[in-house]
Amino acid sequence: MLRPYGFGIWELLQAELDRRFKQTGHQNAYFPLLIPESLLAREAEHVEGFMPEVAWVTHGGKEALTERLAIRPTSEVIIGVMYAEWIQSYRDLPILINQWCNVVRWEKATRPFLRTMEFLWQEGHTAHATRDEAAAEAAQMLGVYRDFAENVAAIPVYAGEKSASERFAGALHTYSIEALMPDGKALQAGTSHELGQNFSKAYDITFADTDQQIKHVWTTSWGVSWRMLGALIMLHGDDRGLRLPPRLAPIQVVIVPILKGESAALLDRAREIAAALRGAGVRVKLDDRDNYSPGYKYSDWEMRGVPLRLEIGERDMAASQVMLVRRDKNKGEEGAKVAVAFSELVPSIEAALAAIQDGLYAQAKAFLETHTLATGDPAEFRRLCKERAGMVDIPWCNRPECEAEVKAATSATTRNLRPLAEQGLACVACGEPAVIRAFFAQSY
Ligand SMILES: [Zn+2]
Repeated sequence: MLRPYGFGIWELLQAELDRRFKQTGHQNAYFPLLIPESLLAREAEHVEGFMPEVAWVTHGGKEALTERLAIRPTSEVIIGVMYAEWIQSYRDLPILINQWCNVVRWEKATRPFLRTMEFLWQEGHTAHATRDEAAAEAAQMLGVYRDFAENVAAIPVYAGEKSASERFAGALHTYSIEALMPDGKALQAGTSHELGQNFSKAYDITFADTDQQIKHVWTTSWGVSWRMLGALIMLHGDDRGLRLPPRLAPIQVVIVPILKGESAALLDRAREIAAALRGAGVRVKLDDRDNYSPGYKYSDWEMRGVPLRLEIGERDMAASQVMLVRRDKNKGEEGAKVAVAFSELVPSIEAALAAIQDGLYAQAKAFLETHTLATGDPAEFRRLCKERAGMVDIPWCNRPECEAEVKAATSATTRNLRPLAEQGLACVACGEPAVIRAFFAQSY
């Protein structure tokens, strides 16, 4: 469930991502919620990976169904079946489609935003004539996610490939962006998969190529869910509540008039300011509730994470100014509260919003950097993993057995991988030759 204010954040996230999808040539479409069991069963690895989480429809009204219907946990299957019909020739390729929808994954232990039985997300599904094109698509969308996370949500991430055991069921390669939360746990905030020809072979998605040969297409899929909202809340929040980056704040500026007795003129002025800001494209709310004190309103909007508060009282009005209060700074901190002349209001607010956006990112980035811990010492490596000290960065052997052993001993797993610059290093976890660098962390 999302109440209107939370849904407002989701809508802004959607708009920002959707614009990036369209800019990279994708279109939106919609596919069915229910998937017949026989279709789901065709890609063996995929069905095995998802089976424990699938919710089933077994009855239509009072009648038992002859075939169970899965409620989509993801849509590779149903979309694959459609693509098999749509794609005949190389002229039909590539297909670049995204779907905004809900999915259901049966979870025993749920956690708001991070692990919920039903969640909102987007899933991109593309089909290409060549492996190279599909690989480029998967890389491109990982880049889109990274850009969104860092420049819109102000969440710094590590982007890289997942290990074999963390890979999406049925994929050749899975890539992710990983953020670090204040409690030292990592959060996977978006994934992009190169599915190879696994799904096109299972669902018979073929095309006649330029050389007249019938070939299987190469597919990708990629997704971001409302988990990103969980990351946003955990990473930027403080003791007073939420702190929203202005680009995802449903209300960027709240105006609180300090009303005393007869204040019609003050309210009029506050309305004028609100209209001027709205005209400049700022998302603004005038809090003219007369049954709450200004102090109550201040903490109410602080808790909701509104980036800027604009206070205006009789004395301010006489001086043709307002007081601007930044949510990202603490009381008494330099720049936390400044007087701004009416004539300078729009540029001052635009500058303050930009500064808050950058400031939240800089704080989160500093946290990630100081909690990214490279080590060459096996005992220290295990201790850091166990203590949830952050992203523990080591040369790694890339062996599932090694990862399983670390997980059993410390609860940490690889988050993602990147190339190893030096040669001849040993895996810090097990001592075998290292072939790659890995971030290990406990995760949500
Ligand atoms: Zn190892």
